[in-house]
Amino acid sequence: MDNNRQKGILYIVVPCFNEEEALAPSAAKLLNKLHELKEAKIVCEQSRIVFVDDGSKDRTWDIIKGLYEEHEEIKGLRFAHNRGHQNAILAGMMYAVKYCDYTITIDADLQQDVNAMERFISAYMEGNEIVYGVRNSRDTDGLFKKLSATLFYKSMKVMDCNIYENSADYRLMSKKALTALAEYGEVNLFLRGIIPDIGLKSSVVHFDVFPRMQGESKYSLSKMFTLAVDGITSFSIKPIRMVFMMGILALLVGVGMVIHIFYEHYFGYTVSGWSSILMSIWVLGGAILLSLGIIGEYVGRNYMETKHRPRYYYWEILSRDEEIEEAEG
Ligand code: UDP
Ligand code: MG
Repeated sequence: MDNNRQKGILYIVVPCFNEEEALAPSAAKLLNKLHELKEAKIVCEQSRIVFVDDGSKDRTWDIIKGLYEEHEEIKGLRFAHNRGHQNAILAGMMYAVKYCDYTITIDADLQQDVNAMERFISAYMEGNEIVYGVRNSRDTDGLFKKLSATLFYKSMKVMDCNIYENSADYRLMSKKALTALAEYGEVNLFLRGIIPDIGLKSSVVHFDVFPRMQGESKYSLSKMFTLAVDGITSFSIKPIRMVFMMGILALLVGVGMVIHIFYEHYFGYTVSGWSSILMSIWVLGGAILLSLGIIGEYVGRNYMETKHRPRYYYWEILSRDEEIEEAEG
């Protein structure tokens, strides 16, 4: 089989959103790493770094252009507007698959330890198609991020999603895995859930996480929330089943209420009862609203998916490769 592969062409894919502060130092570090890997004959000469500008509003694209002009190892892709971290990674990987044997995705702030790359590559050399990066600890995160991440991974487990706890989007994917990933047509993307679903041979590399050195986190609370909701709803219909169970429960309570009301009517005090009516209005009203909300979540997603909108659109491409690189979605 694919055991003990030959050295291959590596494409490092870096999503960037308003990263003007972090980009230059990170690019220098990544170029250094790439040179090291080339010199050690771990990767082929044609290996590259692809920066994907996710519709930045700052000088990010100018910096990428400057880097491209200066270094032949650098390529750039630019989205017309902000499509999100997951789409930026996907775009980079789908672009790279045409040229490379495997990709490694890493954040532009290099919070993830670049020195773990050798271990990712040796796992690939041993025949793994996907190598997951799993963070050693969450010490560098604030309390809120720690708690929300723990809650998120626990609920993903409950929802039957096959996800590695504390896995990150620092990940190696072979050409074969990338080709398989291209078949997933959904618009609401949650790569950490989809990739294990591909089911190819994989292994795990543990890496350290550092605090962000330049700039601020580009993951706003609303972006984190959207990612979590995407993660949960794209993998499971359990929330719908929960609504169903809640409905049964509400019905049972309703039957109890009817018996109680009849009893009060014939044997008790007829004027009382407004409290039980009020209670049922609130309980049922709450349950109905909640259920509608959850169902709406799925209906809304269905609506988005049926549009088959392109996920992203390349605005500009910087590349020295000969092939005609048409804009594609
Ligand atoms: N990012 C992106 N699009 C977005 C938000 C973030 O491409 O809409 C990129 C960002 O530039 C970085 C990576 O995703 O390379 C991770 O973001 P960040 O470091 O801000 O997240 P955190 O480490 O705080 O979770
Ligand atoms: Mg970060």
